[in-house]
Amino acid sequence: MKTHTWSIKTMAMSRLSIKHILFLIVVIIALPALFIIFKSGIEQRNNAVQDAKRETQKLAEAIVSEQKNLIASTRQLFIALSQLPEVREHRSAELQAVLIDILSLSPQYSKLFIADLSGRVWASSDPLSVDSFVHEKRYFKNALASGLLSSGEYSVESNAVSPSLNFGYPIKDEHGAVTAVLCANLSLAHYRKIFESYRLPKGASVALIDHNGTILARAVEPEKYVGTQSKKEILQYMLEGPDEETSIGTSSIIGDSRIQTYRKLILDGESEPYMYIRAGIPTRVVMGNSDAALLKNLFIYSVVLLLGFILSWVIGKKLIIDRILVLQRSSQRLAAGDLNTRVAHEVGSGELGLLGQTFDEMAAKLATRDEELRASVKNYRDIFHATHDALLVCDEAGRILQVNKAAEEMFGYSRESLLQMTFEELLAGQSPYSFADALDLIGKSLEEGTQQAEWLSKKQNSEVFWCEVAMTPSGDLSKREILAVIRDITDRKEMERMREALLSTISHEMRTPLAAMLGFLEYVIENQVKEAELNEYHQIMYKEGERLNEMVTNFLDMQRLKAKISEYVFIPVEIRPLVEGAVAIFDGPFTKHVIVVDLPENIPPLHGEGALLHQALVNLISNAIKYSPEGSEVVIQARLEDDRAILSVQDHGVGVPAEFQEEIFNLFYRVQSTSTRYVAGTGLGLSLVKEIVQIHQGHIWVESISGQGSTFSLSLPVVTTEQAG
Ligand code: ADP
Repeated sequence: MKTHTWSIKTMAMSRLSIKHILFLIVVIIALPALFIIFKSGIEQRNNAVQDAKRETQKLAEAIVSEQKNLIASTRQLFIALSQLPEVREHRSAELQAVLIDILSLSPQYSKLFIADLSGRVWASSDPLSVDSFVHEKRYFKNALASGLLSSGEYSVESNAVSPSLNFGYPIKDEHGAVTAVLCANLSLAHYRKIFESYRLPKGASVALIDHNGTILARAVEPEKYVGTQSKKEILQYMLEGPDEETSIGTSSIIGDSRIQTYRKLILDGESEPYMYIRAGIPTRVVMGNSDAALLKNLFIYSVVLLLGFILSWVIGKKLIIDRILVLQRSSQRLAAGDLNTRVAHEVGSGELGLLGQTFDEMAAKLATRDEELRASVKNYRDIFHATHDALLVCDEAGRILQVNKAAEEMFGYSRESLLQMTFEELLAGQSPYSFADALDLIGKSLEEGTQQAEWLSKKQNSEVFWCEVAMTPSGDLSKREILAVIRDITDRKEMERMREALLSTISHEMRTPLAAMLGFLEYVIENQVKEAELNEYHQIMYKEGERLNEMVTNFLDMQRLKAKISEYVFIPVEIRPLVEGAVAIFDGPFTKHVIVVDLPENIPPLHGEGALLHQALVNLISNAIKYSPEGSEVVIQARLEDDRAILSVQDHGVGVPAEFQEEIFNLFYRVQSTSTRYVAGTGLGLSLVKEIVQIHQGHIWVESISGQGSTFSLSLPVVTTEQAG
């Protein structure tokens, strides 16, 4: 659980920036010092309070002992006076002179006098007070009651210079009976002198209070407070409290917090104190020094802390943050593709230096990898585009994602259009070559690996063609994409068709003459045949044999033609000799047609292979003769159209019905009609011509009206000036 909390805290810390972490470290290091400063500050305060307590106690004690001395000396004075014969013998006038003498020597007393038991003053240092009565005064009554020295209270006498505190002392005869009371008025101005002799701490106050609570003397502002009443509750508090006490409380007069002490003074034989001494020092003054020291320490601490922050910031920035920023910037450059970025020389040594070196090594490796990757991508792209097979990358739904040039050429769409399409638009569509079948195949290749199939596809111009498709899962398997390699197999299919056609022709066409020949031979061998009949049979067999021979020769010519395409050497072939050479084969005594050759002068030579062109012309003239009635005209013409020569062979024969005009150029194709049925042929002649024309980058076509005749035309290239040069 603890580890958990700790790790949460560490995680929270790890979100801080380095700048904040540095500050945090400084704060953590600085905290104990702050604690020590506060602790010692508090201790200093406590010591100051203790010192102040002691100070006030000492002050109070000093006044107490001063007061006790005063009491003792007053008592001694009274004892000495009581022994005087003037007192004992009641010699009023003489005693008065003595009292005046004593008073002049003892300025602390403002008046000395003696009263009889009734309280009448019979002798006094102040003649005016003789015969006055003091029987109601506390000091008089208590002196009589206790038989000991007793005190009075604050009093102001009409003729006195300053207020006073009075004392009474009973005079006893030899039997111990009280005969008179000696009295002394202690001048309160005397206390002022006492206080002045003390050096009081700043703000300290000392006060003497009589039993009634009247302030007798005060060190601070005596004029204002002497003679006034101190607060009742304070008097009560002191009365009820112990004889002496020191506490921290609120000053009765000033109202601030102070350390105060009081002492009760009680005369022998009395139960109630005749005087209270209170001394106090404001805590503000007491703690002033320690507070000032604390503030000073805090100030120094703050300055040091601030310096610490600044130093940690400057050092941290220079040695850590700036170097990390360099690393960060380089990382960003690296991420943006700048693989040549290097950082070690900027970072310096230490751990960050090591990091910099590692970064550089990483960048270098990355650069090498990138180069290799680029090379392999280029390779892949080159292969992708250079291959003759169409390559398509598509997803599971058949959407096309990537295509090569061969695909564009094969299907006749631009790359942009292909990338907007699905497989569906490239398929012929009918089952088992529908889009659904293609998606099945894609799915199967994704599940089981490469799948191969022959497919009927469709080009942009709606031409349907055969292709062979190999589908392989491509790249990242999770993407579920496949690479389709598509090869146009029209030629192969054509070859297959041709092979099948050949086989069927062999079985139908070639077998027919063979069967006829064998039939006749068998008949001749098994039967006695007459000479004339035999002759006829021989002729039939010869014809059939010839047809077979022609068929085989044509077929072999065709095969040879296809096999030798690359070996032909194209040279200028003059048209006139070419045409005349072909016509010569048919133009003889056996000729039953009128062969007309109509060639323009100055027609440039053809660019081609003479023997092949001769063969083509021979085939066309042969057909024209075969499919036109005897005696009709066969016209061979030539004309120039741009850089091509148009050679045409025209007849006035059966013609080719419009619906067959395309097909007659296919291998083994023959028009089956009443007009051609009896004309021997192989269906190979025109295929051969077409093949030859294609080898010459030319083309062949027929214009014909059924029953009226046909014109077969060849468009062939003539020698250009460059070729001639
Ligand atoms: P064949 O040996 O049958 O003549 P070809 O390939 O030379 O074979 O001709 C194919 C078919 O074209 C012929 O069977 C014929 O029906 C038609 N044909 C060719 N030339 C002519 C022509 N000059 N006039 C009419 N029909 C022709």
